[in-house]
Amino acid sequence: MTLLEARDIEKSFGRTHALHGVSVAIRSGEVVAITGPSGSGKSTLLHCLSGIMRPETGEVHYDGRRIDTLDETARTRLRREAFGIVFQFGRLVPELTVAENVALPLLFNGDGREESARVARGWLEQMDVLAVADARPGELSGGQLQRVAVARALVTGPKVVFADEPTGALDSVAGEKVLGLLLAAARVNGSTVVIVTHDNQVAAHADREIVMRDGAAAGVVA
Ligand code: ADP
Ligand code: ADP
Repeated sequence: MTLLEARDIEKSFGRTHALHGVSVAIRSGEVVAITGPSGSGKSTLLHCLSGIMRPETGEVHYDGRRIDTLDETARTRLRREAFGIVFQFGRLVPELTVAENVALPLLFNGDGREESARVARGWLEQMDVLAVADARPGELSGGQLQRVAVARALVTGPKVVFADEPTGALDSVAGEKVLGLLLAAARVNGSTVVIVTHDNQVAAHADREIVMRDGAAAGVVA
């Protein structure tokens, strides 16, 4: 069953046509890698699929409903309820501790403070960053930030996990660990996983690869 779909979407930034006429359909439980050269529109496609950005034309559908026409509040609610997003460079809240950052999506969804803190620490332990649970994001290395960002995205058991270069700042051992947890989210929880990546290792483990070139989906590798 198709869970997430972009139909002929276009997105421009000034004179830059980041996406022109991209259509992709992603099935429930699938692990999809979006690859292609820098500037080819990978992040923009991810942002449009995850409701962070609205394309200028075309449509985005999630779970049988059109989401690109929803207002900001409704798209934010959808992201909190159904999506987990690993941003490039982590984008954690600098004033909060690492553990508080990871607990935040649970609190937004109405879970209790103690339960959220407990679950957040469990994820930090799995990502081998429990030692920095009480530090602020500014004190962390790039690799630690990325692992915390992955923990924060997975903590709610989201229907769809979106990740922008989740292994980019990691050495190969840490990268494999992060990849393993993203794949487990799909295989164990049934999450659908969409990963923008330059990492051949990540692409090799995906069910399917969508190759972007100059703002278009140039091909699909099964
Ligand atoms: P990729 O993820 O493949 O590197 P992006 O989707 O980030 O590609 O960018 C596609 C094109 O759109 C690039 O030319 C990039 O510079 C441009 N772009 C992306 N985001 C913005 C933005 N917020 N403002 C202006 N240009 C942007
Ligand atoms: P990538 O190439 O992997 O997408 P970038 O460093 O280009 O990574 O993008 C990081 C952020 O900067 C994104 O939010 C993107 O939308 C924005 N961005 C990318 N290109 C531009 C640009 N030319 N002008 C303004 N913002 C941009």
